[in-house]
Amino acid sequence: MEEQLQDGYDVVVVGGGAAGLNGALMLARSRRSVAVVDAGAPRNAPAAGVHGLLARDGMAPGELLERGRAEVRRYGGHVAEGEVIGAWRDGDAFTVGLADGRAVRARRILVAAGLVDELPDIPGLAERWGRDVVHCPYCHGWEVRDRAIGVLATGPVPMAVHQAHLFRQLSASVVLLTNGRPAPTGDQAEELAARGIRVVEGEVTAVEVAGDHIAGLRLADGTLVAREAVAVAPRMRARAGFLAGLGLHPVEHAMGVGDHIPADAEGRTEVEGVWVAGNTTDLAAQVGAAAAAGAAAGARINADLIAEDTRAALAAHRDPFSAEAQALLSGPASGGDRHGRAGSSEPSGPSAPEEPGDRESV
Ligand SMILES: Cc1cc2nc3c(=O)[nH]c(=O)nc-3n(C[C@H](O)[C@H](O)[C@H](O)COP(=O)(O)OP(=O)(O)OC[C@H]3O[C@@H](n4cnc5c(N)ncnc54)[C@H](O)[C@@H]3O)c2cc1C
Repeated sequence: MEEQLQDGYDVVVVGGGAAGLNGALMLARSRRSVAVVDAGAPRNAPAAGVHGLLARDGMAPGELLERGRAEVRRYGGHVAEGEVIGAWRDGDAFTVGLADGRAVRARRILVAAGLVDELPDIPGLAERWGRDVVHCPYCHGWEVRDRAIGVLATGPVPMAVHQAHLFRQLSASVVLLTNGRPAPTGDQAEELAARGIRVVEGEVTAVEVAGDHIAGLRLADGTLVAREAVAVAPRMRARAGFLAGLGLHPVEHAMGVGDHIPADAEGRTEVEGVWVAGNTTDLAAQVGAAAAAGAAAGARINADLIAEDTRAALAAHRDPFSAEAQALLSGPASGGDRHGRAGSSEPSGPSAPEEPGDRESV
C-alpha cells in the first residue's frame, strides 16, 4: 500500500527504532499529530533477539518494532517508510525533506535515527557481525558464554582491556588481541594475568570461518589464534548528516568512541525545536534506554508545545482580533489532522485508541 503523509504535523520523528517509536507513542497518546519517517534499518537488525529488555527478552528486533509501529498507529500516529535527507527552518516551524521528494512541515522534530557501527576493515569480520562477532556483553554476552572469545583491540587499548574483563565474566577463555597496538603494561597487564586473560600481540589480518562458525583470528605472521567468538568495539557514528541545514552537526563523544549529537537530559539540542533520543545522542543506550529516552523526549516536546499553544491562546483571549486569534480560528496553514492539528491548541482526535487498520495507511 502506498504510504501517505500529511502536509504538516505537530512533530515529525526521524527514525522508527525504539527511541523514535516510543517518542511517537507518547505524542500520539497526547493527541499530538505525529509522523515517524523510518528508513527501516535499525542498528540491531543483524541480531536474532533483543536481550536484557524486561518482559521482551529474546524477541526478534523486527517483531519488537512491528509491535511498536502498531501501538503508535493505534493512537492515530503515522509511520511512513522513507529517508529524511534534510531539515530546514521554515518560519516558526520546520520543513523536513525526504529522499523520494516528499516534504513535510513540523512544529518540532525528534531525531531518533540511531547510529552506524563502523566495523574494523578485517576480512571475514563484517559477515559475522551480530552473530559471533559481537560488541556488547549485555546484548549477546550470554549467547557466547563459555566459548573461546577473542577481544580484538580496534580502538583505544584501555577500552579493549575493559571489554576483555567484561567478557571474562562470561567465559574463562578470553584472549586480548592488541592488533598492532602497544600491549598493556603495569597494573593493567597484571590484572589481565590475574584473571587468566592472555594477551596476544601482532596485527590481525582475517577472521577465519569454517562452515558457519568462526575458527579463529589470523595474525600477520600466519599464526591462527583459535577462537569461537570475537568481541570488537566499532566506532559509533551518529546518523545525523541530514541535520546540517539546521546547523546541527555531530561532535566527538567524550569517551573517544565515536560522535554524537549532544543534548540535555531531556533530549533538547542546541537548535530550538529539535530534540534527539536514543543512539544518535547516547551511544551507549541499549533498546530499553533508547525507548525510555524517546518517551521522555516525547513528553518534553508535548510540554513545549503546550507552552506555545498557551501563549497563543492567551494572546487570542486578550485580543480576539489579533493574528493569534485569527490563526486559531482558521486552523493551521500546514494542514490539519484527525488527532491534533498542527498549529492548533485544541486536540481534535479520537477519544479512545483506534484499532490498527482503522486509519488510512501511511
Ligand atoms: C548487533 C547488535 C545487537 C544488539 N543487541 C541488543 C540487545 O540484545 N539488547 C539491547 O538492548 N540492545 C541491543 N543492541 C543495541 C540496539 O541496537 C540499540 O540500543 C537500539 O537500536 C537503539 O535504538 P534507536 O532507536 O536509537 O536506533 P535504531 O534502532 O538504530 O533506529 C533508528 C532508525 O532510524 C532510521 N533512520 C536512520 N536515518 C534515517 C533517516 N535519515 N531517515 C529516516 N530514518 C532514518 C533507521 O533506519 C532505523 O530504523 C544491539 C546492537 C547491535 C549492533
